[in-house]
Amino acid sequence: MDDCIFCKIVDGDIPSRTVYEDDDVFAFLDVNPLADGHTLVIPKDHHETIEDMPADVAKELFAAVHELVPAVEDAVDADGSTVAFNNGEAAGQEVPHVHCHIVPRFDGDGNGPIHALFGGPGEMDDDELDAIAERISER
Ligand code: AMP
Ligand code: ZN
Repeated sequence: MDDCIFCKIVDGDIPSRTVYEDDDVFAFLDVNPLADGHTLVIPKDHHETIEDMPADVAKELFAAVHELVPAVEDAVDADGSTVAFNNGEAAGQEVPHVHCHIVPRFDGDGNGPIHALFGGPGEMDDDELDAIAERISER
């Protein structure tokens, strides 16, 4: 897509600190890292969200994430990592080209789990949980 910064990075029109590339996937350091080694993993083709990606692209993307997580963690001597997608504008996605964040984590870094985004678990009774599980599995 012409006006997509991540497509421009894939095409080499915008420079990046590239850490991985194969036929379908590209990975580079985030320019405003949340932690040392913060890496973005993207499909080379333009797809906005996870649901927009064809299944084969999603498989290749996750295969690259699977390879990159230990490489990124080792490179910065991390103790773990938060691996996440901001999927869609409502979730805070700012660049509309699907990307996986690998953010290295360190013992005692104080940044909390993904649960911290939501201020703690919600309250839901068993019937509501059952109904939602059924709607998802039916789809
Ligand atoms: P998101 O909010 O999930 O859409 O995240 C977009 C990410 O892209 C942010 O963490 C930005 O720091 C990062 N970013 C934006 N422009 C660039 C760029 N030119 N090179 C590397 N990372 C970028
Ligand atoms: Zn794009």
